[in-house]
Amino acid sequence: MSKFLIDKYQTLEAYVPGEQPKNMQYVKLNTNESPYPPSQTVLDRVSSAEVSMLNLYPDPDCVNLRNKLAGLYGVEIDNVFVSNGSDEILSFSFMAFCSEETGAVFPNISYGFYKVYGDLYGVDYTQAPLNSDFTVNVNDYKNVNKTVIIANPNAPTGLTLSLSEIEDIVRSNPNNVVIIDEAYVDFGGESCVELTKKYGNLLVVQTYSKSRSMAGARLGFAIGSKELISDLNRIKYSTNPYNINRLTLAAGEAAIDSNDYYMANCCEIIKTREYSVKRLAELGFSCTNSKANFIFAKSDKISGRDYYLKLKSNGVLIRHFDNPLIKDYVRITVGTKEQMDRLFEETEKILAEVQS
Ligand code: PMP
Repeated sequence: MSKFLIDKYQTLEAYVPGEQPKNMQYVKLNTNESPYPPSQTVLDRVSSAEVSMLNLYPDPDCVNLRNKLAGLYGVEIDNVFVSNGSDEILSFSFMAFCSEETGAVFPNISYGFYKVYGDLYGVDYTQAPLNSDFTVNVNDYKNVNKTVIIANPNAPTGLTLSLSEIEDIVRSNPNNVVIIDEAYVDFGGESCVELTKKYGNLLVVQTYSKSRSMAGARLGFAIGSKELISDLNRIKYSTNPYNINRLTLAAGEAAIDSNDYYMANCCEIIKTREYSVKRLAELGFSCTNSKANFIFAKSDKISGRDYYLKLKSNGVLIRHFDNPLIKDYVRITVGTKEQMDRLFEETEKILAEVQS
């Protein structure tokens, strides 16, 4: 830290992204990326013709992309906001809708960035404890008179709330924004986008990073009332109007044109998840009922940390969190069946070793 950093940031604990190691080729199951490449349409559209226009700024209003998203999700273009990854929408939302006065509430076990944004923007936030089975306690979010942020499915548990539970939360907080982070919704969750037509205080956030194989392009989007979208635009045009580059815009549009490819990949990932949960159970693991592209699992034979470290030294990368509430667990991204079989092969070796 330099002596120039202003006081209020000196104690800020930054978000720690999952490892992206360069030292060797791992079977990479640690950051919930898609194991499948972008569609051929995307590969074709991010062409040298597009690259040759990089001397020109991209469209700051992202009209073509927002039109395509509006068509796919059955809303108007003014109900759609796009951003440089969904992290940016979350950041803008904390700036726009959370403060020391409004406060905020989110689960104590959830996406780690909520707490970081809360600290960064000086928000008076509460972290509501999950139930002992890791489900979100809906009552903690009803009539709270604070901005609500919930990932559905939640991370890293993969557990979901039903649409009626979300609606109860939204309806009971008419004077506050409810942000539902649907980063993982395409893997078996139920989207609450339709509810945005009924409730002006609901903002739904999604990403191209998981189901649409574009983590490296950085593209996220939000759907909500025109008023909420216009608030987000006020923040965007006050920070970084050209937040999405030309190549990402082209890729994002092409991905919507090839939506069937991505939805078929999601079905494949769901199938592989169910297969993997079964295999893990046979190996003595217990898993939550994840509806995401990851599995949250605990072994009865080895600690979460040891399992993560041993797998890593055997070339398979998964995620372990030091948080004492979930330290027995690991989060395993669902890869291809071949990648998962390699995980099981290494797991069998590790378990044989610890039992001998
Ligand atoms: N929300 C949740 C719940 C996530 O797990 C992630 C990915 N780490 C994000 C949002 C952000 O994803 P991105 O910025 O890549 O769109």
